[in-house]
Formats: sequence, structure tokens, C-alpha cells
Amino acid sequence: MENISEPKVFANTVILQSEGLLKYILETGVYPREAETLKELRNETAKHPMGFMGAAPDAGQLMAMLLKVSNAKKTIEVGVFTGYSLLLTALTIPDDGKIIAMDPNRKAYEIGLPFIKRAGVEHKIDFIESPALPVLDKLLEDAGNEGSFDFAFIDADKKNYWNYHERVMRLVKIGGIVAYDNALWGGTVALPEKAVSKDKQEWRLLSLAFNEAISKDCRVEIAFVSIGDGVIICRRIA
Ligand code: SAM
Ligand code: CA
Repeated sequence: MENISEPKVFANTVILQSEGLLKYILETGVYPREAETLKELRNETAKHPMGFMGAAPDAGQLMAMLLKVSNAKKTIEVGVFTGYSLLLTALTIPDDGKIIAMDPNRKAYEIGLPFIKRAGVEHKIDFIESPALPVLDKLLEDAGNEGSFDFAFIDADKKNYWNYHERVMRLVKIGGIVAYDNALWGGTVALPEKAVSKDKQEWRLLSLAFNEAISKDCRVEIAFVSIGDGVIICRRIA
């Protein structure tokens, strides 16, 4: 018989304790409001062997809210994959908004492209097939780009998160938002090293180092949110 009991509540947070609660949140408040093209792209992405890399739809909903409340128009996306968070951003920002999106994997982006086209938002996207670092550095060569972005979403290679942070701290305006995905790295950040499988150890250490560094960074206010695989939301204040 299935063992159903109330989830344990630690420090007022229940979400990480129960799969049923996540299902409840998704089915009650996320899926019914998810745009049709996003839903279709999410289903298409699920067929991909690396489909687990797609952004969590509840985290996506939070991101859309951040974009709206901050009136974001000009954004950066590092790590596109099939484009769930990219399409979501494109659907959320105004018609004359712009997203500079970077990923060396064009093939994955092309899976999402028909959905982006169908949603009528391709004109807002500048996809650059490249690792992000040289693109961000190139943007910084033009002083006009400094402080000109409203929002950035970082969802790519962990080893460069701090490098991305240093760049977006100059590219995003004071008061702008930067969200870093996968802050919990599958929950491994709270596990002892020996309990973590070999393939997750390197990124666990990188996540621990990044999370600690950002929590000490006076240039930003942060909200460390237990949604999806953990999102650290920063507001640039200096
Ligand atoms: N945001 C995506 C979504 O909503 O589905 C998921 C991104 S996926 C977790 C990570 C992506 O980062 C992969 O598509 C990978 O190709 C990309 N990536 C890896 N190294 C990168 C780099 N140096 N610069 C930019 N993107 C990179
Ligand atoms: Ca992610």
C-alpha cells in the first residue's frame, strides 16, 4: 500500500518534501496558464534524450512574473537548449523587446524554433551560436551596452557562472534582475560528498562555491528560491 502521510515541515518550507505538492502546484496554477506553444515545446523537449535539461515550468512562471514586474524589455539568456525559457521570455517582453540568447548548440535551438515562429515572437530573438563568454565580452567592448539590459537568465555551464556574473553585473542596469538556475544541483549541495554520484560531484562543488560567493556579493540583493532545481534571483544594486 502507498505510504501517504503529511510532509514534514522544516522552517516553514514544504515544497521540497513532497512530489504530490509539486504536482498540485503545476496542475493547479502553472499548466492551466501555460501558453499553448510553450506547452507544445515542453512536450517536444520531453522526447529529447537530454529533455531533463529544459527549464522547470513553475520556475518559468516565476521568471515571467519577474520579467513583467520589472518591465523588462532587453534581456540576455545564457543557455538556450530547446528554448523553453527563451520562448517564455519572448512571449512575456513587449513586442519591441529584444533577447540576446547564446548557446553553442544550434541543433537544440532548432528543435524549439518552429514553436517560436508559430508563437510569432522570433523577431524579438537574436540567437548567437556560440559559448556565451566571448559574446558577453564582445558586448562589453561597446560602452553603450553597459547597464543597458533589464534582465538576464543564466542556465548553462556551471564552471563559468562567476564569469557570467562579472559580465552581467556590468551589462544589466542597476535595479535590473539576474536569475541563476540550478542552484541546488539536484539537491546535492546539501549532501555529503560521499553520498553524491561521481558524475554530479564537480558541478556540486561549483554550485557550492558559486552560491557562497553570490551570497557575499554586495553588488546584489538576492532571493534564494526553492523552485525547480533552485533559482537564485539577484537584483543589481551597485
Ligand atoms: N534554459 C534552457 C531551457 O529553458 O530549456 C535550458 C538550458 S540547458 C540546462 C543548458 C544549456 O547550456 C545547453 O543547451 C548547453 O548547450 C548550454 N551551454 C553549455 N555551455 C555553454 C556555454 N559556454 N555558453 C552558453 N551556453 C552553454
Ligand atoms: Ca536549468
